[in-house]
Amino acid sequence: MTKPIRVRYAPSPTGLLHIGNARTALFNYLYARHHGGTFLIRIEDTDRKRHVEDGERSQLENLRWLGIDWDESPETHEQYRQSERLEIYQQYVDELLEKGLAYKSYVTEEELAAERERQEAAGETPRYINEYLGMSDEEKAAYVAEREAAGIVPTVRLAVDEAGIYKWTDMVKGEIEFEGGNIGGDWVIQKKDGYPTYNFAVVIDDHLMAISHVIRGDDHIANTPKQLMVYEALGWEAPAFGHMTLIINSETGKKLSKRDTNTLQFIEDYRKKGYLPEAVFNFIALLGWNPGGEDEIFSREELIQLFDENRLSKSPAAFDQKKLDWMSNDYIKNADFATIFELAKPFLAEAGRLTDKAEKLVELYKPQMKAADEIVPLTDLFFEDFPALTEAEKEVMAGETVPTVLTAFKEKLEAMTEEDFKSENIFPQIKAVQKETGIKGKNLFMPIRIAVSGEMHGPELPDTIYLLGREKSIQHLDNMLAAIGK
Ligand code: GLU
Repeated sequence: MTKPIRVRYAPSPTGLLHIGNARTALFNYLYARHHGGTFLIRIEDTDRKRHVEDGERSQLENLRWLGIDWDESPETHEQYRQSERLEIYQQYVDELLEKGLAYKSYVTEEELAAERERQEAAGETPRYINEYLGMSDEEKAAYVAEREAAGIVPTVRLAVDEAGIYKWTDMVKGEIEFEGGNIGGDWVIQKKDGYPTYNFAVVIDDHLMAISHVIRGDDHIANTPKQLMVYEALGWEAPAFGHMTLIINSETGKKLSKRDTNTLQFIEDYRKKGYLPEAVFNFIALLGWNPGGEDEIFSREELIQLFDENRLSKSPAAFDQKKLDWMSNDYIKNADFATIFELAKPFLAEAGRLTDKAEKLVELYKPQMKAADEIVPLTDLFFEDFPALTEAEKEVMAGETVPTVLTAFKEKLEAMTEEDFKSENIFPQIKAVQKETGIKGKNLFMPIRIAVSGEMHGPELPDTIYLLGREKSIQHLDNMLAAIGK
């Protein structure tokens, strides 16, 4: 009988939810939902030095924002935080000690550091060398007694079978094999402070929580042989493992790093900037997986239905900011107006721009926005006297015929009554300038666009001018004429 599908996302609350972790959570979620399995969240908080206050809450909050839900977690289940499971780990440490499959290690940090230095100098691969090596039983007893008397607190190490072969068929990468002799010697399963190490606790938890598939980032591949050793020592069957490929930054070709400050990497960043969670969810789902075909826009339900672990990619996933921007804009463009207006409201309010024009402005810029915070810079021209120009815009404005066009168009606007001043009446005025001056095409539209909006690209020009209002448009034309010295 096949085991029921149970998968988990097991964050260490050491910081905000990073895009790499969000992907791990999301693929486990998709896997569980596709197969009708169970998705649980367990908090791996045994590294007390790296613990971040509020880390757990922010992880869960950001997962919820993304639209991910779960069936079991510390919110509803007891002992779903590793720090609450110390007695459980102790029981298995004791079992291994009793069976002689683990032992107490009294070696000090200083001794380990000195040994590491010696190994490095000799060009050897760093490894722990059993401190009891070559000792008779009496010598061992004397060594332990002496160290205990000196108040040295031991760690517990797993006795590694150096000749053992640890292999598995990875759901993503295929056959992987490690030799027991190559993992750095007997390793610590319980630290001096009584806490288990990650590689030990994770096995106990995955087994007791009946996890069937461990799907995680490939930075954990080298941990897997250690975990297999614990399954073996305790006589348990290991779950299936799948290690998802690295995410690389498509700009640099290197591993996505928290130091790439130009790249948004924390889910919180997207949320704060007013991205639609559905867009971020869709984007992350395609980092190292795709359903085949050309389509890239999928709803959560579609992704659940289409998810197929056999299509998890073996090659690195490219984090492409441009693709995210495109996708995000696609979602905003197609979302209903009320949703986007709600999303934009706090940004407009903060900038003091939640005026009676606000709805019209959001309507005007919705087709070009990729995040709601852009509504502020996009609407600068409606609230500021003279928008700053880029080098390219300045170059256009230095054109010989620019003053003629601006002056003629300004006169047209001045001649219009407030009543005539409607979106549909503005285009004919631009055409009239063309007729009068003989200037057409780019030379006609671009200077007017830049003068009134401060941008080379943007929404429909007549709409922009209409929304800006007659007075303000004239004022912008005046300001521009003054700025170019005419
Ligand atoms: N706590 C580990 C991490 O955050 C989980 C690794 C695992 O999934 O086994 O990387």
